[in-house]
Amino acid sequence: MNCLENGRNPAECVLVTDARKRREAMKNRFHDLNRQFLIFGIVLGFLFGIILCRGIWESAAKAQPEAPTPTVQASAPYVMPVPIPEAESTAIVTAIQPVEIIEPEPEPAMISLGTYRITAYCSCEKCCGEWAKNRPGGIVKGAAGVELKAGVSCAAPLPFGTVLIIDGIGEYVVQDRTSTDYAEKNGGKVIDIYFDNHEAALDFGVKYLEVFEKEGVTNDQVQ
Ligand SMILES: [Zn+2]
Repeated sequence: MNCLENGRNPAECVLVTDARKRREAMKNRFHDLNRQFLIFGIVLGFLFGIILCRGIWESAAKAQPEAPTPTVQASAPYVMPVPIPEAESTAIVTAIQPVEIIEPEPEPAMISLGTYRITAYCSCEKCCGEWAKNRPGGIVKGAAGVELKAGVSCAAPLPFGTVLIIDGIGEYVVQDRTSTDYAEKNGGKVIDIYFDNHEAALDFGVKYLEVFEKEGVTNDQVQ
């Protein structure tokens, strides 16, 4: 509708139209402000959302490293029992045991030489005859050139240094010779044990005992 059609004078109409224009301008400004506020609100909301999301994410990230630490602490006690050293110690024990078993193995084999005629003698003239007169420095030496010792030395038709075990008597080393006639009479199976006095030799008398040879063992004193 025209201003003039409403029966108003032109001066009034100019005022009215100016007022209308102002109102429209105001409306337009209000709309523009609304739009700006809306955009600002959206942007603000978006930013706030990002900040909020980041805050949640960071707090979640902080909570995550706390979780692995208990798992590390839980795994630590599993290491503490240390069952492996026990297995190693048993392995060492089992490794030592065969070594202990190996040690007695070098023990020489005992070879039975059969039954021997065992007699006894000392360094006196009755026992040794002419040999008793030849004792330089009073030292009693056997045919092997080694000083005879009671409990160690014996005479036999066997290689010097042979280690013999006379059943029930003990271990002796061949360091002297019996007379060949005497040995031949008894088929070579004679042993004469050395004593440091004649009475002890007499007391021993004559015995028939089984004799064993320590295989591969010879006394170092005798060559
Ligand atoms: Zn004697």
